[in-house]
Amino acid sequence: MLEIKNLHKSYPIGDSSLHVLKGIDLSVKEGEMVAIMGSSGSGKSTLLNIIGMLDEADSGQYILDELQIKNLTEKKAAVYRNKFLGFIFQSFNLISYKNAIENVALPLYYQGMKRKERQELALFHLEKVGLANWSDHLPKELSGGQKQRVAIARALAANPKLLLADEPTGALDTKTSYEIMEFIQQLNDEGKTILMVTHEEDIANMCKRIVRLRDGVIMEDKKVTQVRAAQYV
Ligand code: ADP
Ligand code: MG
Repeated sequence: MLEIKNLHKSYPIGDSSLHVLKGIDLSVKEGEMVAIMGSSGSGKSTLLNIIGMLDEADSGQYILDELQIKNLTEKKAAVYRNKFLGFIFQSFNLISYKNAIENVALPLYYQGMKRKERQELALFHLEKVGLANWSDHLPKELSGGQKQRVAIARALAANPKLLLADEPTGALDTKTSYEIMEFIQQLNDEGKTILMVTHEEDIANMCKRIVRLRDGVIMEDKKVTQVRAAQYV
């Protein structure tokens, strides 16, 4: 579903530039659950943002669901992003003045779905993450774990083919992290393809494959035996 070949990315700094991704090759099949690991500054977020079409590579090939992602107009990119991709971030990125159900319903609004329909679908997804009773609460009234569940519900609302997560447990305590991982594993069990950035070994081992980045190069790419989060929660 995802095919990346010889991807390069640099950022300009002053008169020179910082070469962040130096020829990345990565292929991900439907149903995989992949951890991207590496120390801070190794290019993990840059890679995830390019995969998520939030940023563009300088050169190389990126094919998502048989579509060449290159030189897409902003508008086209937004359509594909909405259709194929769901995002989860370390800092949740919920809209502070909107309640849980409104946050989940937002991507559906951008898809042009009618109000009643999106409310129903948003509630369905909030139920799935166990937060049906919290639908009218604002983010500030929710715990970190609950906020991340709302963010997961929002990411899933438009039924994306690929779920991208950048340090989804980075702001959570260990127990809450494992609860979130249990949920993400269940999504993968149901067939959702998941690509997750983390720098925590225990979280990475809850995926099925670990890709290690160092200084913009893939140092290692191996399958692992998935540790189930449920045994810790
Ligand atoms: P990671 O997520 O692995 O910590 P990043 O992909 O965020 O790493 O960053 C890789 C390198 O690129 C870092 O040195 C960072 O400072 C730099 N960088 C990231 N984004 C930008 C940007 N928009 N402009 C300039 N430099 C950037
Ligand atoms: Mg990062």
